[in-house]
Amino acid sequence: MTIQRTAVVGAGTMGNGIAHVLALHGRSVTLIDVDPDALASATDTIAGNLDRQVGKGHIEAEEKSDALDRISTATDVAAGVDDVDLVVEAVPEEKEMKAEIFGALDAHAPEEAVLASNTSSISITWIGAQTERPGQVIGMHFFNPVPVMTLVEVVRGQRTTDATLDAVSGLAEDLDKNPVEVEDYPGFVSNRVLMPMINEAIFCVMEGVAEPDNIDTVMTLGMNHPMGPLTLADFIGLDVCLHILEVLHDELGDDKYRPCPLLRRKVTAGELGRKAGEGFFSYD
Ligand code: NAD
Repeated sequence: MTIQRTAVVGAGTMGNGIAHVLALHGRSVTLIDVDPDALASATDTIAGNLDRQVGKGHIEAEEKSDALDRISTATDVAAGVDDVDLVVEAVPEEKEMKAEIFGALDAHAPEEAVLASNTSSISITWIGAQTERPGQVIGMHFFNPVPVMTLVEVVRGQRTTDATLDAVSGLAEDLDKNPVEVEDYPGFVSNRVLMPMINEAIFCVMEGVAEPDNIDTVMTLGMNHPMGPLTLADFIGLDVCLHILEVLHDELGDDKYRPCPLLRRKVTAGELGRKAGEGFFSYD
């Protein structure tokens, strides 16, 4: 199956990056968002990020204008997906919202179209069960910032077919990404491994094992990580980290995933990390 015509639902942080890479690699993209301001700001962000790639000599100016020409926008799912091969959903991480979107995509996208979700923690098998085509539902878990990060976790739900998996992995390779196939278990591989490390670093802060910058220094210098776990947690958002740990804890039922009380306390206080100006570190 060739994937040429695409749509991305949700034009936020991830959606604009996914639209960017699809358009830059020759796919037509309809970027869909209920909020017209989000669409305008996504288009500006994509143009700015393409400019940066031109400035660094990574792409030609003509590739930038061709990519922008391939992107159109829509505020209505039904109107934006009627002739696509693939839809990538990137709306907020709320189960009911995803269920509603996948119901609409199933009703309006062509019968043979693949429906992918960029979810970080919701079961692909569950999302597939919201549709009449679970064999064509798959996870395409990109990483932020999408134009820069080369990993895509390709998540196979219980009913996902080999043909769907092959089509999506092939597309990811065309986008110059590294697709890694993973099974549909909570947190997939990335968050299953990352979040306990972040949580443990937060326990170290709570128990006074070391100051936050010293914990990050141990992990950057000692483990050769490019960024310490607390800096990374601030970057991801402490509310997002808490939510993913709660999913791991609930769905795997193991107390090793219990969120650190200090993480809860900071989220309750609104210290959500970089986006709030305050997390484990302070930001201007
Ligand atoms: P975001 O809040 O930046 O963007 C979400 C967009 O969806 C907003 O523009 C919003 O207007 C739009 N939206 C809301 N309801 C809609 C609807 N009914 N129809 C169409 N658009 C709608 O969110 P994000 O950070 O881009 O995250 C999107 C998804 O990607 C989530 O599932 C998240 O877990 C996942 N994810 C996020 C990251 C990250 O680092 N931000 C990384 C990997 C995966």
